[in-house]
Amino acid sequence: MNTYVNMLRLLAMVLIIGVILSGCRAPVSLNNCEDFHVIQRPILFDSTRARLSLEYMKTHYGIDQKQPTITPRMVIVHWTDIPTFEGTFNTFNPVYLPGARAKISSASRLNVSSQYVIDRDGTVYQLLPDTIFARHVIGLNHTAIGIENIGGKHMPLTKKQLQSNACLIQDLHRKYPIDYVLGHHEYTRFIGHPLWLERDPNYLTEKIDPGEKFMRYLNYVLRPLHLKDLPESKQKVHPTINEIPKS
Ligand SMILES: [Zn+2]
Repeated sequence: MNTYVNMLRLLAMVLIIGVILSGCRAPVSLNNCEDFHVIQRPILFDSTRARLSLEYMKTHYGIDQKQPTITPRMVIVHWTDIPTFEGTFNTFNPVYLPGARAKISSASRLNVSSQYVIDRDGTVYQLLPDTIFARHVIGLNHTAIGIENIGGKHMPLTKKQLQSNACLIQDLHRKYPIDYVLGHHEYTRFIGHPLWLERDPNYLTEKIDPGEKFMRYLNYVLRPLHLKDLPESKQKVHPTINEIPKS
């Protein structure tokens, strides 16, 4: 009898361990978004930031609006190259771009930012409302929601970040007519596309974030959304321009 009970206990233990392990290996999927939620951590968006945003839209895109709002049609995925959420928040919060970023500050003194930041553990923070202008990509800020991920070249993005990106993009896709999801390193493929509005052909920077591997995984998970393929690049980035910081 004891042997029988012990065998049952052993079997139960094996089953429990199996369930735990299979949970750890659960594939990233749009079906795993029941617990998805967003933490609000708004950055400063005062009248000065609004004015600088409106100036940017007018100068770079020829868009003349009363409010610095955007019409979301795409999501651009980034990595921060800053190792913590707090460090990223403190970088995006000031209204003005720091003087050190001379190359992009000549285009505008508006600081860079992003609507969302996803931490290493998958925590999603919202820094700006979805339809408020953020400077995170050349040519497309008037239509692109930005998602920054805490990580970088030597700090690969995590599986939890991949899952949170997928859930967040699914959520945004339900709210707005999102056609495209792209990595920042792919942004120049829109040069010549109707959504590309940058007026200065020399204002281009070369980007490597978040890399092809992460976008390949993300696009695979996002297949059920039936997003559009990215346009073919019509113009190469000028070879002399090789600025690494994010824009
Ligand atoms: Zn970027």
